[in-house]
Amino acid sequence: MDRPNWAPEGVDLHQPSIARVYDYFLGGSHNVAADRQLGEFMLTTEPQFPQLVRANREFLVRAVRLLVAQGVRQFVDIGSGIPTFNNTHEVAQNAAPDARVVYVDVDPVAVAHSREILAGNDRVAVIQADVRDPDKILSDPALRALIDLSEPVGVLLLGLLHYIPDSAQPGGIVGRLRDATAPGSFLVLSHSSWSTAIPDMAQMQDKYNTEVGAELTPRSRDEIVALFDGYELVEPGVVEYPDWRPHDDTVAIAPGGILTFYVAVGRKPG
Ligand code: SAM
Repeated sequence: MDRPNWAPEGVDLHQPSIARVYDYFLGGSHNVAADRQLGEFMLTTEPQFPQLVRANREFLVRAVRLLVAQGVRQFVDIGSGIPTFNNTHEVAQNAAPDARVVYVDVDPVAVAHSREILAGNDRVAVIQADVRDPDKILSDPALRALIDLSEPVGVLLLGLLHYIPDSAQPGGIVGRLRDATAPGSFLVLSHSSWSTAIPDMAQMQDKYNTEVGAELTPRSRDEIVALFDGYELVEPGVVEYPDWRPHDDTVAIAPGGILTFYVAVGRKPG
Protein backbone atom coordinates (compact mmCIF):
# COMPACT_ATOMS: atom_id res chain seq x y z
CA MET A 1 0.00 0.00 0.00
CA ASP A 2 1.29 3.47 -0.86
CA ARG A 3 1.67 5.60 2.25
CA PRO A 4 -0.52 8.72 1.90
CA ASN A 5 1.51 11.89 2.39
CA TRP A 6 -0.59 12.82 5.45
CA ALA A 7 0.34 9.64 7.38
CA PRO A 8 3.44 10.10 9.56
CA GLU A 9 6.10 7.35 9.42
CA GLY A 10 5.40 4.68 12.01
CA VAL A 11 1.59 4.84 11.71
CA ASP A 12 0.33 1.31 11.00
CA LEU A 13 -2.10 1.72 8.13
CA HIS A 14 -3.22 -1.92 8.32
CA GLN A 15 -4.79 -1.29 11.72
CA PRO A 16 -7.82 1.01 11.85
CA SER A 17 -7.67 3.94 14.28
CA ILE A 18 -10.38 5.61 16.33
CA ALA A 19 -9.64 8.99 14.75
CA ARG A 20 -9.55 7.72 11.14
CA VAL A 21 -12.77 5.67 11.41
CA TYR A 22 -14.45 8.79 12.82
CA ASP A 23 -13.00 10.83 9.95
CA TYR A 24 -14.52 8.30 7.54
CA PHE A 25 -17.97 8.73 9.08
CA LEU A 26 -17.58 12.52 8.85
CA GLY A 27 -16.76 12.29 5.15
CA GLY A 28 -13.11 13.34 5.67
CA SER A 29 -10.13 12.30 3.55
CA HIS A 30 -7.74 11.02 6.25
CA ASN A 31 -8.71 7.35 6.31
CA VAL A 32 -7.50 4.17 4.57
CA ALA A 33 -9.05 0.85 3.53
CA ALA A 34 -8.74 -0.70 7.02
CA ASP A 35 -10.67 2.23 8.54
CA ARG A 36 -13.35 2.13 5.87
CA GLN A 37 -13.85 -1.65 6.21
CA LEU A 38 -14.38 -1.37 9.95
CA GLY A 39 -16.64 1.65 9.40
CA GLU A 40 -18.76 -0.23 6.90
CA PHE A 41 -19.12 -3.14 9.34
CA MET A 42 -20.24 -0.71 12.05
CA LEU A 43 -22.86 0.73 9.70
CA THR A 44 -24.48 -2.68 9.37
CA THR A 45 -25.26 -2.47 13.12
CA GLU A 46 -25.97 1.26 13.45
CA PRO A 47 -26.72 2.86 10.07
CA GLN A 48 -27.00 6.29 11.70
CA PHE A 49 -23.29 6.66 12.59
CA PRO A 50 -22.74 9.40 9.97
CA GLN A 51 -25.70 11.39 11.30
CA LEU A 52 -24.60 10.82 14.89
CA VAL A 53 -21.07 12.09 14.30
CA ARG A 54 -22.35 15.10 12.35
CA ALA A 55 -24.72 15.80 15.22
CA ASN A 56 -21.76 15.66 17.59
CA ARG A 57 -19.91 18.29 15.53
CA GLU A 58 -23.03 20.45 15.35
CA PHE A 59 -23.27 20.31 19.15
CA LEU A 60 -19.62 21.45 19.31
CA VAL A 61 -20.50 24.52 17.22
CA ARG A 62 -23.42 25.54 19.40
CA ALA A 63 -21.62 24.86 22.67
CA VAL A 64 -18.50 26.83 21.66
CA ARG A 65 -20.65 29.78 20.50
CA LEU A 66 -22.51 29.67 23.80
CA LEU A 67 -19.23 29.78 25.75
CA VAL A 68 -17.90 32.68 23.66
CA ALA A 69 -21.16 34.53 24.37
CA GLN A 70 -20.48 33.89 28.06
CA GLY A 71 -17.10 35.59 27.72
CA VAL A 72 -14.85 32.52 27.42
CA ARG A 73 -11.82 33.20 25.23
CA GLN A 74 -9.70 30.09 25.83
CA PHE A 75 -10.47 26.49 24.96
CA VAL A 76 -8.80 23.12 25.51
CA ASP A 77 -10.25 20.51 23.15
CA ILE A 78 -9.11 17.02 24.23
CA GLY A 79 -9.62 14.07 21.89
CA SER A 80 -10.07 16.71 19.21
CA GLY A 81 -9.72 14.31 16.27
CA ILE A 82 -8.63 14.88 12.69
CA PRO A 83 -9.72 18.39 11.65
CA THR A 84 -12.49 18.28 9.07
CA PHE A 85 -14.99 21.12 9.34
CA ASN A 86 -16.36 23.27 12.14
CA ASN A 87 -13.19 22.87 14.14
CA THR A 88 -13.13 24.51 17.55
CA HIS A 89 -10.69 27.30 16.62
CA GLU A 90 -12.75 28.23 13.53
CA VAL A 91 -15.97 28.46 15.52
CA ALA A 92 -14.37 30.29 18.46
CA GLN A 93 -12.24 32.69 16.40
CA ASN A 94 -15.13 33.49 14.04
CA ALA A 95 -17.09 34.63 17.07
CA ALA A 96 -14.12 36.16 18.92
CA PRO A 97 -10.90 36.63 16.92
CA ASP A 98 -8.80 36.81 20.09
CA ALA A 99 -9.90 33.31 21.25
CA ARG A 100 -7.10 30.80 21.94
CA VAL A 101 -7.45 27.06 21.41
CA VAL A 102 -5.27 24.10 22.40
CA TYR A 103 -5.99 20.80 20.68
CA VAL A 104 -4.97 17.52 22.33
CA ASP A 105 -5.13 14.03 20.82
CA VAL A 106 -3.18 10.77 21.11
CA ASP A 107 -3.53 9.94 17.44
CA PRO A 108 -0.47 10.84 15.33
CA VAL A 109 -2.52 11.52 12.19
CA ALA A 110 -4.87 13.83 14.10
CA VAL A 111 -1.89 15.71 15.56
CA ALA A 112 0.05 15.93 12.28
CA HIS A 113 -2.94 17.20 10.30
CA SER A 114 -3.89 19.67 13.02
CA ARG A 115 -0.32 21.05 13.01
CA GLU A 116 -0.39 21.36 9.24
CA ILE A 117 -3.62 23.32 8.97
CA LEU A 118 -2.82 25.45 12.00
CA ALA A 119 0.64 26.55 10.92
CA GLY A 120 0.72 30.33 11.10
CA ASN A 121 -2.15 30.65 13.59
CA ASP A 122 -0.34 31.80 16.72
CA ARG A 123 -3.46 31.56 18.87
CA VAL A 124 -3.74 27.78 18.42
CA ALA A 125 -1.47 24.94 19.61
CA VAL A 126 -1.54 21.16 19.24
CA ILE A 127 -0.32 18.66 21.82
CA GLN A 128 0.02 14.89 21.41
CA ALA A 129 -1.05 13.48 24.78
CA ASP A 130 -3.35 11.04 26.53
CA VAL A 131 -6.31 12.37 28.52
CA ARG A 132 -5.48 9.76 31.16
CA ASP A 133 -2.62 12.04 32.22
CA PRO A 134 -4.37 15.41 32.67
CA ASP A 135 -1.48 16.87 34.67
CA LYS A 136 0.88 16.31 31.76
CA ILE A 137 -1.56 18.13 29.46
CA LEU A 138 -2.08 21.00 31.90
CA SER A 139 1.64 21.52 32.44
CA ASP A 140 2.63 21.31 28.78
CA PRO A 141 4.56 24.47 27.85
CA ALA A 142 2.53 24.85 24.63
CA LEU A 143 -0.68 24.93 26.67
CA ARG A 144 0.76 27.27 29.27
CA ALA A 145 1.89 29.68 26.55
CA LEU A 146 -1.73 30.16 25.39
CA ILE A 147 -3.99 29.28 28.30
CA ASP A 148 -4.15 31.26 31.54
CA LEU A 149 -5.56 28.80 34.06
CA SER A 150 -6.52 31.65 36.41
CA GLU A 151 -9.11 32.75 33.80
CA PRO A 152 -12.18 30.73 32.67
CA VAL A 153 -11.45 27.95 30.19
CA GLY A 154 -13.81 25.88 28.04
CA VAL A 155 -12.74 22.24 28.29
CA LEU A 156 -14.15 20.06 25.50
CA LEU A 157 -14.33 16.29 25.90
CA LEU A 158 -16.42 15.35 22.89
CA GLY A 159 -16.83 11.72 21.94
CA LEU A 160 -13.85 10.88 24.15
CA LEU A 161 -14.69 9.47 27.56
CA HIS A 162 -16.42 6.35 26.19
CA TYR A 163 -12.86 5.29 25.32
CA ILE A 164 -11.87 5.53 28.97
CA PRO A 165 -12.88 2.46 30.98
CA ASP A 166 -13.98 2.71 34.60
CA SER A 167 -10.60 1.29 35.68
CA ALA A 168 -8.96 4.49 34.36
CA GLN A 169 -11.38 6.58 36.46
CA PRO A 170 -12.91 9.04 33.99
CA GLY A 171 -14.53 10.87 36.90
CA GLY A 172 -11.08 11.45 38.40
CA ILE A 173 -9.77 12.79 35.09
CA VAL A 174 -12.67 15.24 34.78
CA GLY A 175 -12.23 16.20 38.44
CA ARG A 176 -8.58 17.04 37.88
CA LEU A 177 -9.46 19.22 34.89
CA ARG A 178 -12.22 20.90 36.92
CA ASP A 179 -9.94 21.58 39.90
CA ALA A 180 -7.17 23.00 37.69
CA THR A 181 -9.44 25.49 35.93
CA ALA A 182 -10.80 28.78 37.25
CA PRO A 183 -14.34 29.35 38.52
CA GLY A 184 -16.52 30.28 35.55
CA SER A 185 -14.85 27.58 33.42
CA PHE A 186 -17.02 25.19 31.43
CA LEU A 187 -17.03 21.48 30.64
CA VAL A 188 -18.53 20.52 27.26
CA LEU A 189 -19.15 16.80 26.99
CA SER A 190 -20.67 14.29 24.62
CA HIS A 191 -20.72 10.60 25.44
CA SER A 192 -22.29 7.62 23.75
CA SER A 193 -24.63 5.18 25.34
CA TRP A 194 -26.01 1.85 24.22
CA SER A 195 -27.18 -1.43 25.60
CA THR A 196 -24.56 -4.18 25.57
CA ALA A 197 -27.49 -6.58 25.93
CA ILE A 198 -28.16 -6.11 22.21
CA PRO A 199 -26.17 -8.98 20.60
CA ASP A 200 -25.29 -7.03 17.42
CA MET A 201 -24.01 -4.14 19.48
CA ALA A 202 -21.90 -6.38 21.71
CA GLN A 203 -20.43 -7.99 18.59
CA MET A 204 -19.66 -4.61 17.03
CA GLN A 205 -18.08 -3.39 20.24
CA ASP A 206 -15.84 -6.51 20.45
CA LYS A 207 -14.70 -6.16 16.86
CA TYR A 208 -14.05 -2.44 17.21
CA ASN A 209 -12.11 -2.91 20.46
CA THR A 210 -9.99 -5.69 18.97
CA GLU A 211 -9.23 -3.87 15.74
CA VAL A 212 -8.47 -0.38 17.06
CA GLY A 213 -7.19 -1.50 20.47
CA ALA A 214 -9.83 0.40 22.45
CA GLU A 215 -11.95 -0.37 25.49
CA LEU A 216 -15.26 1.16 24.48
CA THR A 217 -17.36 1.84 27.55
CA PRO A 218 -20.95 2.96 26.99
CA ARG A 219 -22.43 4.76 30.01
CA SER A 220 -25.95 5.39 31.22
CA ARG A 221 -27.36 8.89 31.50
CA ASP A 222 -26.92 8.74 35.30
CA GLU A 223 -23.25 7.83 34.91
CA ILE A 224 -22.79 10.72 32.49
CA VAL A 225 -24.56 13.13 34.88
CA ALA A 226 -22.08 11.99 37.56
CA LEU A 227 -19.17 13.14 35.38
CA PHE A 228 -20.44 16.70 35.97
CA ASP A 229 -19.79 16.48 39.69
CA GLY A 230 -18.78 19.97 40.88
CA TYR A 231 -20.31 21.70 37.84
CA GLU A 232 -23.68 23.41 37.49
CA LEU A 233 -25.45 21.98 34.46
CA VAL A 234 -26.46 24.56 31.87
CA GLU A 235 -30.05 24.17 30.64
CA PRO A 236 -31.34 21.69 29.47
CA GLY A 237 -28.84 19.47 31.34
CA VAL A 238 -27.72 16.05 30.14
CA VAL A 239 -29.99 15.17 27.22
CA GLU A 240 -29.93 13.21 24.01
CA TYR A 241 -28.43 15.34 21.26
CA PRO A 242 -31.64 16.34 19.42
CA ASP A 243 -33.05 17.78 22.66
CA TRP A 244 -30.11 20.13 23.38
CA ARG A 245 -31.47 23.58 22.45
CA PRO A 246 -32.89 22.39 19.11
CA HIS A 247 -32.84 24.85 16.25
CA ASP A 248 -32.76 24.97 12.47
CA ASP A 249 -29.36 23.25 12.15
CA THR A 250 -30.21 20.35 14.45
CA VAL A 251 -29.23 17.14 12.66
CA ALA A 252 -32.15 14.76 12.28
CA ILE A 253 -31.64 11.51 14.20
CA ALA A 254 -34.33 8.89 13.65
CA PRO A 255 -35.81 7.78 16.98
CA GLY A 256 -35.34 4.16 18.06
CA GLY A 257 -31.66 3.88 17.04
CA ILE A 258 -29.52 1.67 19.23
CA LEU A 259 -26.81 4.24 19.85
CA THR A 260 -27.48 7.51 21.64
CA PHE A 261 -25.25 10.53 22.15
CA TYR A 262 -25.81 12.32 25.43
CA VAL A 263 -24.56 15.90 25.42
CA ALA A 264 -24.27 18.60 28.07
CA VAL A 265 -22.48 21.75 29.20
CA GLY A 266 -21.55 22.41 32.82
CA ARG A 267 -20.20 25.57 34.50
CA LYS A 268 -17.79 25.55 37.40
CA PRO A 269 -19.46 27.78 39.98
CA GLY A 270 -17.83 30.71 41.68
N1 SAM B 1 -13.75 15.34 19.61
C1 SAM B 1 -13.93 15.09 18.18
C2 SAM B 1 -15.39 15.22 17.86
O1 SAM B 1 -16.20 15.10 18.79
O2 SAM B 1 -15.74 15.42 16.70
C3 SAM B 1 -13.38 13.72 17.77
C4 SAM B 1 -14.03 12.54 18.45
S1 SAM B 1 -13.32 10.97 17.97
C5 SAM B 1 -14.68 9.90 18.23
C6 SAM B 1 -12.37 10.56 19.43
C7 SAM B 1 -10.96 11.13 19.43
O3 SAM B 1 -10.38 10.87 20.71
C8 SAM B 1 -10.02 10.49 18.40
O4 SAM B 1 -9.38 11.49 17.65
C9 SAM B 1 -9.02 9.70 19.23
O5 SAM B 1 -7.74 9.66 18.66
C10 SAM B 1 -9.04 10.48 20.54
N2 SAM B 1 -8.66 9.69 21.72
C11 SAM B 1 -9.04 8.42 22.02
N3 SAM B 1 -8.51 8.04 23.20
C12 SAM B 1 -7.79 9.11 23.65
C13 SAM B 1 -7.02 9.35 24.82
N4 SAM B 1 -6.88 8.39 25.74
N5 SAM B 1 -6.43 10.56 24.99
C14 SAM B 1 -6.57 11.53 24.03
N6 SAM B 1 -7.28 11.36 22.89
C15 SAM B 1 -7.89 10.17 22.70
